[in-house]
Amino acid sequence: LQAPYDPDNIFARILRGEIPSVKVWEDDHVLAFMDVFPQSEGHVLIISKTSTARTLLEIEPKALGRLIGATQRTARAVVKALEPEGFQIMQLNGEAGGQTVFHLHFHVIPRWSDRAMKG
Ligand code: 5GP
Repeated sequence: LQAPYDPDNIFARILRGEIPSVKVWEDDHVLAFMDVFPQSEGHVLIISKTSTARTLLEIEPKALGRLIGATQRTARAVVKALEPEGFQIMQLNGEAGGQTVFHLHFHVIPRWSDRAMKG
């Protein structure tokens, strides 16, 4: 959990436009984009554009507030567009916590009772 931020992690490269992404929504502070290996239809990731926190422990309160606000807006948009029966907010920290990309992110994962869960 203590390692330094790697400026060449995949999400940093997405933010710099070096790797393409399917953007859902963005402003000056946050970006929401489609997960390339979705756990369900409509799986979206939300990241801060300004904070270089690797995990939830490191981000400053103001940037965290914006990130959580954007996660709620994304969840609303996904629910409106896809009408799932439920959804999950997921946020993983550290390799042992299942984190694979070390730029803090929230997942919005729509769920349906008749569709198998992946991941
Ligand atoms: P974590 O396991 O770190 O919480 O989640 C990382 C997420 O990033 C995974 O769900 C994975 O599918 C997604 N991901 C990994 N590489 C890429 C990529 O190049 N583009 C996009 N859009 N998502 C990615």
